[in-house]
Amino acid sequence: MRFETTRNPAALSDEARTDLMADPGFGRVFTDHMVTIRWTVDGGWQEARVRPREAFQLDPASAVLHYAQEIFEGLKAYRATDGGVTMFRPEQNARRFNESARRMAMPELPDDVFVQACEELIRVDEKWVPGGEGSLYLRPFMFASEAFLGVKPASEFIFCVIACTVGAYFKGGAKPVSIWVSDHYNRAGPGGTGAAKCGGNYAASLVAQAEAIQHGCDQVVFLDSSEHKWVEELGGMNLFFLFADGSVVTPPLGGTILPGITRASILHLLRTDGVVVEERPYSIDEWRADAASGKLSEVFACGTAAVLAAVGQVKSSQGDFVIGNGGTGLRTEALRTRLTAIQRGQAPGPEGWVHTVAL
Ligand SMILES: *Cc1c(COP(=O)(O)O)cnc(C)c1O
Repeated sequence: MRFETTRNPAALSDEARTDLMADPGFGRVFTDHMVTIRWTVDGGWQEARVRPREAFQLDPASAVLHYAQEIFEGLKAYRATDGGVTMFRPEQNARRFNESARRMAMPELPDDVFVQACEELIRVDEKWVPGGEGSLYLRPFMFASEAFLGVKPASEFIFCVIACTVGAYFKGGAKPVSIWVSDHYNRAGPGGTGAAKCGGNYAASLVAQAEAIQHGCDQVVFLDSSEHKWVEELGGMNLFFLFADGSVVTPPLGGTILPGITRASILHLLRTDGVVVEERPYSIDEWRADAASGKLSEVFACGTAAVLAAVGQVKSSQGDFVIGNGGTGLRTEALRTRLTAIQRGQAPGPEGWVHTVAL
């Protein structure tokens, strides 16, 4: 697709940008540009643009504001050791974006256009890609922009990519997280949107996340909505259970769990190493019992933003328990180091995982 580029005349100076990039935190230091592509039912994808980052003008009747037709992705670009820029498995994000689009009755964007849009933004905002521990977090998303109050799939959409410079997700090193088991709230149900990366899933999880904070926890873990027994995932991260006998369990995808690319990559690495990995239902009662008996030695949560985060403690209305010594286990640490090195192209990984961006 041909993108028309307009440079931002108000782009930050090298000095101002360097200042911001020194301590970017997560999700608040945005680059100078954005990519947009419009879609209409009659004209399809059109007006692909790389342009100054600015506010959208939205009609108050825009469908997304009322019926929440919105999906998104999250992926990172890294500064390679040779000075170039790479992305990690972006075609997987493109594929999942289209799976989300189908579930939400939204138009599909060709995979190569999705990847190209990310590359166009990286090229124009290349100076915002940090070295060291940091990365450029890309946020492609799409929303219904048609001004119309009626319950039907919209006939106009906007696809957009924005980006922010991010530091390490956990300030002061990766501390183990504590998680709260939600009693009343579910994230997803059979036939629902749990496997789609849509904003609505997050909206539905926020009250449970607030409850977790009230209980002194960092994150909430959701159980299945039918039996309220099987462990599914956190609000935005998948879970892995590592046992003392070396085996690994992760809950199976089945429509209610978001198919994480970090999850899939870890599964691949473990299986290639010959580790016995089961994708099987794991109950909260087993979790509590295995933690108590010492059968379970480590648990971690994973996703693009944090990569791997050890889970040290679980709190629930049925009582609290600690996993292992409550700290970050050696296998979690080793997996994080290994995956991070592969993502950054500092260690060899499976063919095709590292996507070099032509600058
Ligand atoms: C994005 C997301 C994940 C992690 O997916 P990655 O592709 O690994 O970043 C896990 N769970 C939920 C609910 C998510 O939205």
